[in-house]
Amino acid sequence: MSIYSGPVFEMAKSQFETIADYIELPQDERARLLYPKRAIAISCPIHRDDGSQAVFQGYRVQHHLTLGPTKGGTRFSATVDIGEVAALAIWMSWKCALAGLPYGGAKGGITVNPPSLSLRELEGLSRRYMQEMIPFVGPHIDIMAPDMGTNEQVMAWFMDTYSIHAGHTVTEIVTGKPVASGGTVGRREATGRGVVHLAMRAAEKIGLQPQGATAIVQGFGNVGMVSAQELLLRGVKVVGVSDHTACLYDPAGLPVEALVRHVTENKVLAGFSAEAAADPVTLLAQKCDILVPAALERVIDGPMARKLQCRILAEAANGPTMPDADLVLGERRGEIYVIPDILCNAGGVIVSYFEWVQDLQQLFWEENEVNARLTHILDRAFEQVNARMAKDNVVSRTAAMAIGVEKVYAAKRLRGLFP
Ligand code: NAD
Repeated sequence: MSIYSGPVFEMAKSQFETIADYIELPQDERARLLYPKRAIAISCPIHRDDGSQAVFQGYRVQHHLTLGPTKGGTRFSATVDIGEVAALAIWMSWKCALAGLPYGGAKGGITVNPPSLSLRELEGLSRRYMQEMIPFVGPHIDIMAPDMGTNEQVMAWFMDTYSIHAGHTVTEIVTGKPVASGGTVGRREATGRGVVHLAMRAAEKIGLQPQGATAIVQGFGNVGMVSAQELLLRGVKVVGVSDHTACLYDPAGLPVEALVRHVTENKVLAGFSAEAAADPVTLLAQKCDILVPAALERVIDGPMARKLQCRILAEAANGPTMPDADLVLGERRGEIYVIPDILCNAGGVIVSYFEWVQDLQQLFWEENEVNARLTHILDRAFEQVNARMAKDNVVSRTAAMAIGVEKVYAAKRLRGLFP
């Protein structure tokens, strides 16, 4: 019955089935919770700088409409397909429900390698993608945000394109916009800030002192960079970082601020220094206290999970840990504290929600208010997950996903099935 396939979708499905068995969800109600409500596939033609034309495939998947509009990022990546986008939309639903946000999950993407486009071509593609999506999105229907390969600038182009169509400025159509065009203070940093706030909560739980502890961060984009900076602020030594162009490891600690300056200027880690060059394949298995995968999904499989030497696994990326790795991490429960993705990286969508609320009301908050409300919601979800782990003796991913799935299921039952 499904148009969705591929390893990432299979992973989201397998995780859902585990949760459905655990919470004893009736068999005939499972498909209604798992399969997305809508999926849109589009072709986006653009003019290339050399005068030729090119067409890129784009997607948007809206998972469920039960709790409010859908919400989710837009990914520009050479490997995006509809199965991956659907999986990311499903995870987004459990994440929003766990955090108590009035949204269903969504996700979008274009199959494109962004560095292969000039800035003008990227603008053309971003605007055409939003133009094609206008019939299917809206501030009370589906609200976009950044994800891998997109940023504040792309969100500004999305917002401008939608606004031109509407005939007036509609800032609330996207979140993760620049502050200068209706964004909120604290959104750019929110995901990494949330990751590290929760890593510190986990450190408290296992009795780890942040001062002098060590961390490795995989992925040095928006989330990875901010996570590294926030770890540094708390006295944690960042000993390893990587992106798709380079991998650096130094047990004495890496110069985080210099790395951030280099990537801000050059976009990639390559060219920083050859001195600390390391093997990206073994980086995750190096000894450290806090491991932060902040790049791709499916980077930790079963064999890798056996090799991990960290004490806290803070899943900043979506879906970095595969189901076979979850089995291993379940066995290693006392050794490694896992902060599952739908909790760990929820800071991004929480502050996106604040941005949407501020845009709707045209009433803007100070950064300390944004951060205080962010940590309040993260702490509440963290405590709920820990309480559920203790009550049912389940691992953190099971506890977090069960809370999310149960909230969506409860709302569906109360609203009923039409007609
Ligand atoms: P980004 O595009 O800013 O950065 C992605 C980083 O991953 C880049 O440094 C890239 O070089 C690196 N990377 C790509 N392939 C890699 C590889 N094979 N090995 C090592 N590094 C690799 O994206 P982002 O916004 O930082 O998102 C990173 C992850 O966090 C994604 O899984 C995304 O879904 C998730 N996430 C992002 C947000 C957000 O607010 N941006 C919110 C929640 C979750």
